Amino acid sequence: MKKARHAKPFRFQLTGRRARHAKPEPAGTRLVRGVSLCVAAACLLLSVTVYPASAATSMSSLQNKLDKLSQSIDQHKKELSDAKKQESAAKALESELTERVGIIQDQIAVLSGQIAAVQNSIGETEQKISGKETEITEKEGQIADKQTEIDGQWSDFKKHMAAMQELRDGGSIAMLSAVNDLYELLTFNEVMQDISVKDTEIMDNMKAAKADLEADKVQLESDKAELEDQRAELQSQKADLDAQNSQMKSKQSELNGSISAAQMSAADAKKAQAAAQAAIESDELNYEAVKKQIQQLIASAASSQPQLSFTGFACPLKSYTRISSEYGWRKNPVSGVNKLHAGIDLAAAGGTPIYAAASGYVQVAGWSSGGYGNYVIIYHGKMSDGNTYSTLYGHMKSVATSAGKYVKQGELIGYVGSTGNSTGNHLHLEVWKGGSKANAVNPRGYIPFPHN
Ligand SMILES: [Zn+2]
Repeated sequence: MKKARHAKPFRFQLTGRRARHAKPEPAGTRLVRGVSLCVAAACLLLSVTVYPASAATSMSSLQNKLDKLSQSIDQHKKELSDAKKQESAAKALESELTERVGIIQDQIAVLSGQIAAVQNSIGETEQKISGKETEITEKEGQIADKQTEIDGQWSDFKKHMAAMQELRDGGSIAMLSAVNDLYELLTFNEVMQDISVKDTEIMDNMKAAKADLEADKVQLESDKAELEDQRAELQSQKADLDAQNSQMKSKQSELNGSISAAQMSAADAKKAQAAAQAAIESDELNYEAVKKQIQQLIASAASSQPQLSFTGFACPLKSYTRISSEYGWRKNPVSGVNKLHAGIDLAAAGGTPIYAAASGYVQVAGWSSGGYGNYVIIYHGKMSDGNTYSTLYGHMKSVATSAGKYVKQGELIGYVGSTGNSTGNHLHLEVWKGGSKANAVNPRGYIPFPHN
């Protein structure tokens, strides 16, 4: 870079239009110069015809291939990014579903606990009911016993009454004969009456006891009915819980199904990514191979044409507004970094035609990822100073030539624009010495600019 910066401006000393810039020369060299002029003219004539049409044809087919590969790469990159999006969406869905399954599993666990508790209560209630049933059966036995007692007592009572009746009716005389005195008679009568009162008392007691037992039985039956109600309530609760549980379980299995669908979709997306990635890699390899072929074609065309030569440059714009930026080192106002502006900027209206500064082989015609936007590089071959030169035209609105084409000086190659790293319509023009940007020289040393 430093070398380029300090390079002495080279002046054309050879031919027609630029001859006026020539310094006065000693007369002895004029003859030599005249001869070389003729040779140069002959070469120029030759160079117009020497490019085989086949080279240009295969060049354009290669360029075509390159374009197609580039499109294919773009397509596969889009597929890759789509597949990545699909995969991350599927994974997000999967984790969301998994979360929901977790929640449902918690709910199922809670429900299972509730079901077990209700089941337990039902068991306890059943036991209570069966206890009550036993008590009722016992109570029924007691009632029956009591009834038997009452019945027995009743028959005794009836016998006593009959005996008394007998005494009162016909038995008086017999009784009188058996009784020794009045006192005995009265006592006997009292005894008879006492027996009657006792019988009645016993009867009453027994009836009361039976009534108590029956009341107990009624109480027990009401307790049992209450327990049966409770059991029915618990069973209905359990039925509800069972229904909820089976609903949860079916939801869970549904979600599990969705999860495996999401997993499958993620796996498919992953496969699609791998396929797109493989296609990109293969396309890129092919792209490199085709690019190499193009370079080889250019190199072989250039080497097979040692007479590819030119006499000097013309300004590539017939008209421009002003030179908006010179070649040279400048400090970036933002980053503060010193950088070589490797060309000269000609501000011109968008769409202004750009012409080849000299005849040569179009090496590059297309889009630059390096900031030149649409750009063209022309390889001009050897100039009279013994060096080979190339020129670069950047930020074109559009390119009007194609790689591999031979262009004559003044032939249309594109239009002024503001593509790439550019803030306004202008032509960025570089001159390379030795065919490499590393030796970008100040265009002012080579190209005549009509005004500033
Ligand atoms: Zn520039």
